[in-house]
Amino acid sequence: MEFGASYFGVRDVRHVRDDLDRFDDEGLNAIVHTFSERDETFYEDTMAEIVAESSDRGFRTYVNPWAVGKVFGGEAFSEFLAKHPDARQQTVTGERQHGACLNDPAFRSRLREWTESAVDLGPDVLFWDEPHWIIPEWFGDSHPEDDWVCRCEHCQKRYEEEHGELMPVCENETVQQFREDCLIEFLAEMMAIGAAAGVDNAVCLVPHSDADHGITDWDRLANMDDIDMLSTDPYWGISGDEDVEEFVADTTDHVVSLADEYGLESQIWIQGFGLDDEPEAYDNVRTATRVAIEGAADSVLMWGWDGCRVISEIASENPDAVWQAYLDTIEEHRP
Ligand SMILES: [Zn+2]
Repeated sequence: MEFGASYFGVRDVRHVRDDLDRFDDEGLNAIVHTFSERDETFYEDTMAEIVAESSDRGFRTYVNPWAVGKVFGGEAFSEFLAKHPDARQQTVTGERQHGACLNDPAFRSRLREWTESAVDLGPDVLFWDEPHWIIPEWFGDSHPEDDWVCRCEHCQKRYEEEHGELMPVCENETVQQFREDCLIEFLAEMMAIGAAAGVDNAVCLVPHSDADHGITDWDRLANMDDIDMLSTDPYWGISGDEDVEEFVADTTDHVVSLADEYGLESQIWIQGFGLDDEPEAYDNVRTATRVAIEGAADSVLMWGWDGCRVISEIASENPDAVWQAYLDTIEEHRP
C-alpha cells in the first residue's frame, strides 16, 4: 500500500534530499512532484535531479501538470495564457476566460511538449490532476446565469464537423456531452505519450464530477486504453459534506470498485490544506485516512506535504499537527 504526499515549493536539491530522507523515516513510499510551466521552463534539469533523488530512495514518483494552461489544479500561473490570449476558453457572450481551450491547436501542442518533458524526468506515473473546463461560477460577476464555455472558433468548428450542425448558443445536453468528449479525447492523446514511454497514467477527478466539473461518466474514463490508476480527492472542507466518514467511505468505495472492475489501481487524497487548528480538524484527518485505508484504496496520499506549510495561502493553521495526524494514522492502520 502506498503513502505519501504532493511536494512543491522547494527547488534546491540539497534541501529536497533532507525532506526526502525525512519522508522515508516517516514511512512514506510515494511522492507527487508538481511540475508547473515555470518548473518546466526554468527548472527542467533540477526537476530531473529531484525525481532521480526520489527514485533512488525507493519512492514511487509522480509528476503532474500543475495548473498548466489553468486547466489542471494547482497554485501556479500560466505563461501559456499570457502568450496566447486567443487560445483561452470563450464564453457564449464572447469573453475569454482564464483557462486554455482544450481544442485549441496551440494549447494541444504546448501540452504535448509538457508531457514529453515530464516523461523525460523519469517518473513512474503522470498524474493528471482535476482536468476541467472553466466552470460558470468562476466567470465572475456580471455574467448571465446561462453563460458557458467554450464556444471559440475551434470548438465551433469541431462541433460542426462532428454533429453536422452549428454549435448551439444555449447550452444543452449535446453541448455538455461534446465538452466531456473533448476532455476524454484530450486526455487520451496526452496519456498515449506517457504510455508509449512506459510511464503509467493516473487521472484524478473531484468526487462530485458532473457536466460542469469535468467527466460525468467515470466508467468511460476507467475504460480508456492508457489509464492505470483512478484517483479522487474527497476534500471535506471544500465539498461541505458534514459527515467526513460517510463522504470518504462512499468516495473510496466508488473508486475502489470501479478500479477493481477495470483492473486499475485506486487512489484517495486526504485534505491537508486549509484546516483549522481545532481538535475536530485532526479527527477528520484521522478519520479520512483510516477510512481510505480500510476501504482498500491502493494509494492514500495527503495534499500536500507538511500540511501545505510552505504555501501560506492554503496552509493549515497548524500544518505540522495536520501532517502528524496523517502520519500517526497510517502508522496505526497500515495493513
Ligand atoms: Zn474552445
